[in-house]
Amino acid sequence: MADIIDGKAFAADLRGKVAEGVAEFSAKAGRKPGLAVVLVGEDPASQVYVRNKHKATVGAGMESFEHRLPADTSQEDLLALVAQLNADPAVDGILVQLPLPEGLDENAVIQAIDPDKDVDGFTTASAGRLMTGLPGFVACTPLGCLMLLKDRLGDLSGKTAVIIGRSNIVGKPMAQLLLRESCTVTIAHSRTKDLPEVVRGADIVVAAVGRPEMVKGDWLKTGATVIDVGINRVPAAEEGKTKLVGDVDFASASETVGAITPVPGGVGPMTIACLLYNTLEAANRREGFA
Ligand code: NDP
Repeated sequence: MADIIDGKAFAADLRGKVAEGVAEFSAKAGRKPGLAVVLVGEDPASQVYVRNKHKATVGAGMESFEHRLPADTSQEDLLALVAQLNADPAVDGILVQLPLPEGLDENAVIQAIDPDKDVDGFTTASAGRLMTGLPGFVACTPLGCLMLLKDRLGDLSGKTAVIIGRSNIVGKPMAQLLLRESCTVTIAHSRTKDLPEVVRGADIVVAAVGRPEMVKGDWLKTGATVIDVGINRVPAAEEGKTKLVGDVDFASASETVGAITPVPGGVGPMTIACLLYNTLEAANRREGFA
């Protein structure tokens, strides 16, 4: 049976370390690190995410600045708020909760964020910095995956890695991070031919597809390390109930692989912990402490 990579425990530990870093920062800077979160409209899932981020930010001893705007906010007003947050010395990190209501240009809003405050790592400047090896901010989910991999495997150099999924927020930055660690990286996607065969060669598999339990145990190399990013809600055995599953068929995979993240309790909890980590890093860089 595979070892379970406990993302929940790792994230709790990371949050504790960030809280210690926040206390040190605050003592030196005479202020707390600040994270500004912008929520436009009433999307229920986004409201839950923003509430959780607020709680985690305050829990780590940081300042949380919430900006809730009505769904009919104009592009101009939203860009003006981003500009104001860019200029605000108390704000170290800015996060605009996606998706934005229809009619707003998501890309233009994200690109307006100062890359030095882009703690979500979604601007093209951040993507470019990652690609060219310059200091910048890495999107929180792939950063969390990398931390789990390094914790499990130590040096990743020379390992073969297959990432299934090429989104800008998970697959592509994950590939860049693993390349930076000197892995031999393959990015698979919906047009990849004979995906099971491609996956079978990998020491490390990161599944970020959004298809429930797609990756089966017999696709995986014996002893591989599997990071399952997928969050899929499916009907549960009990009628009328649902449950969360990943992109990997956990039951068959855990017979073959060396270690695997569960869903829930694997990658999920790492995302907010890495947001706090990036915000502390942004604050330290802005004050010249890092
Ligand atoms: P996207 O929908 O943006 O990307 C999915 C990727 O999977 C695409 O590149 C697509 O290929 C590829 N794909 C789709 N079908 C197949 C297939 N049959 N075979 C191979 N590749 C396929 O998703 P995200 O990257 O945003 O998210 C992926 C998953 O991770 C989702 O379940 C999401 O909920 C979860 N997630 C979890 C987070 C967390 O905190 N744990 C955070 C972010 C996402 P193509 O490009 O060719 O279409």
